[in-house]
Amino acid sequence: MDTCFFCKGDMEPALTKFIVDLDDVVVIVKNVPAMVCTQCGEKSFDDATMERLEEIVNKVREGFVTEVAIVEYTKAA
Ligand SMILES: [Zn+2]
Repeated sequence: MDTCFFCKGDMEPALTKFIVDLDDVVVIVKNVPAMVCTQCGEKSFDDATMERLEEIVNKVREGFVTEVAIVEYTKAA
């Protein structure tokens, strides 16, 4: 069981939102697997997930002309 970096609470697997605010677009990725602290709600993503999120964000930046992009983690190419 992982413990929270901030409050030492228990981290549990959960699906969460990843939101990144870029200059020209806000990207919201939904249903991202993460470890979430049961005490303070701090989220932590593992390396593979972070890499994938980066890919998704890069794709969105290239392809989208909207100001807010909402992407489903599991469905993103
Ligand atoms: Zn915590």
